Amino acid sequence: MARFGMVIDTVRCVGCMDCVVACKTENEVPEGLCRDWIVTETAGTFPDTRLEIRSERCNHCDHPPCVYCCPTGASHVEDYGRMVQITKELCIGCKACLASCPYDARYIHPEGYADKCTFCVHRVQQGLPPACVAVCPTRCMHLGDLDDPHSEVSRLLAARRNHALQPEAGTGPRIFFLT
Ligand code: SF4
Ligand code: SF4
Repeated sequence: MARFGMVIDTVRCVGCMDCVVACKTENEVPEGLCRDWIVTETAGTFPDTRLEIRSERCNHCDHPPCVYCCPTGASHVEDYGRMVQITKELCIGCKACLASCPYDARYIHPEGYADKCTFCVHRVQQGLPPACVAVCPTRCMHLGDLDDPHSEVSRLLAARRNHALQPEAGTGPRIFFLT
């Protein structure tokens, strides 16, 4: 069974926010909310410093506290790609998952349910890349099976220095940033 994750090249990313706009359009994300966002951070120590530009979103964690704390089973791990998803019909909007996520990846949709990045599963199941991956002008984002040593994401991780965000939180994030 595949275990999907993303590899994002921070050297190629120019912070154009095309991924943010594409996600909002594709997923009809309401005004003022977003499923992905850009963070700009200074990395390294002087004089060996550089600007790291990251496109961030839900990490579809291996050990997702948002799933463990959900009282209704709305937040769950899908068999397909081991992606963390939300069944909005089961969600009661209690916000426990929002409080548990170390990445602030969720929001409450104006219709009352928790919402976040789905890795565009509706597109991926049709053989299409997520909207953010599809529009990126520098081709810096990749989605694939982390458990397949021959996948593009696995090959990139083997070849390049990389890091995940807040690994110390213990959630097993599955988005890796190439540096
Ligand atoms: Fe859950 Fe947050 Fe991890 Fe996404 S990033 S799976 S919302 S804990
Ligand atoms: Fe579960 Fe919804 Fe509560 Fe989140 S807000 S913990 S998805 S019931």
